[in-house]
Amino acid sequence: ILLQDHVKDLNVVVVSVAGAFRKGKSFLLDFMLRYMRNSDKDSWMGDNDDPLTGFTWRGGCERETTGIQVWSEVFVVDKPDGSKVAVLLVDTQGAFDSQSTIKDSATVFALSTMTSSIQVILKHQNVWLFTEYGRLALEEVSKKPFQSLMFLIRDWCFPYEYCYGLKGGNEFLDKRLQVKHNQHEELQNVRNHIQHCFSNINCFLLPHPGLKVATNPKFDGRLRDINEDFKTELARLVPLLLAPNQLVEKEIGGNKVTCRDLLEYFKSYIKIYQG
Ligand code: GDP
Ligand code: MG
Repeated sequence: ILLQDHVKDLNVVVVSVAGAFRKGKSFLLDFMLRYMRNSDKDSWMGDNDDPLTGFTWRGGCERETTGIQVWSEVFVVDKPDGSKVAVLLVDTQGAFDSQSTIKDSATVFALSTMTSSIQVILKHQNVWLFTEYGRLALEEVSKKPFQSLMFLIRDWCFPYEYCYGLKGGNEFLDKRLQVKHNQHEELQNVRNHIQHCFSNINCFLLPHPGLKVATNPKFDGRLRDINEDFKTELARLVPLLLAPNQLVEKEIGGNKVTCRDLLEYFKSYIKIYQG
């Protein structure tokens, strides 16, 4: 995928969606695919009755696959500054669930963090722990090693406290990231750690998509079956992550990396974790 002639020497933007299983990662990624394929159209979300295709997703509580899946189509995008970048979409499946061992989960999550430039973490509002980053062993560095982090809270039910979208999300996040003296020391450290690791941290609150999405086994992803306010927020969220002027190139050690470089980094990171 990374060594295809038309992308191998382009700087790479790696968009990774991670979170516990059955959180809607694949569902979101399929909308991202639609955006990447139709980004010059106002109607990128598609027709009301088009089933959603791409990364496999489905209801139920059994896990599908574990690990990191890279979408085989690499998108070449012209940024407003005239540069061309290659955009890679990555699904980090099934990490952090109770079936995986802690070590496997930590490895998958660490690999996803280290290889992405835009990391989206899907969370439920009630599960707000930063344990993922607690396991990411990093040495103290002067420059922030990672680029962009977006916490995406799904099924948000308190829009009267914090409104849906980026504004409410960032207010909610600020509150969660505050380090207070009476907190457990470990939690304080993790919070400080996250803020030192990413150049850019945001949070977005998504409404519930509706009962058809959440519980109907025959739901095939068509827009007609999704709640209006969910679609409104989704239409705002995806361009925030993927619009050409929002695309953040992957940097390692302060340097932008090409697709070809990324492959080498992947190999060396995997060696580290095998050891
Ligand atoms: P993944 O395991 O994280 O990739 O999750 P999937 O994308 O396969 O989705 C799992 C189930 O959750 C499917 O039945 C989706 O229809 C449903 N789903 C997707 N997004 C949401 C959401 O924001 N809220 C709720 N409640 N369900 C969702
Ligand atoms: Mg999935």
